[in-house]
Amino acid sequence: MRVDYKFYLGGKEVVISEECKGDKDIFRFLHHAEEIFGNTICEREGETSGNVKVSVRKATDTSGKKEYEYFEMVCYDPSKSKCHFAKRQFGTPEDDAGSLFPKNKTADGKWQPWTKFNKEDGKEE
Ligand SMILES: [Zn+2]
Repeated sequence: MRVDYKFYLGGKEVVISEECKGDKDIFRFLHHAEEIFGNTICEREGETSGNVKVSVRKATDTSGKKEYEYFEMVCYDPSKSKCHFAKRQFGTPEDDAGSLFPKNKTADGKWQPWTKFNKEDGKEE
């Protein structure tokens, strides 16, 4: 059966669907969908915004040989200085089979799905 998962991204409804063969498949699909798309409202230092877009950014390493892609949700809400340009970042598992996982914690282990880069200390926070 086809299973739909609906969410809002920047005020627009988005539906992703998967053909599931049974209850286990449905759990796998919904679990993964929730992990990736279940948090599309930016929240940082007491401010929230639903003005969020997905972004895929490419960059090369310092040698210029290896290219990386960065998968992020980015908040664009200039009226809110604490959360404007905050990002929710996603990582690529080692198998690189196409799936992503959310980076919900900062480098020091604090739960903070939406972060901004602090130029002064060089950390996402
Ligand atoms: Zn924000």
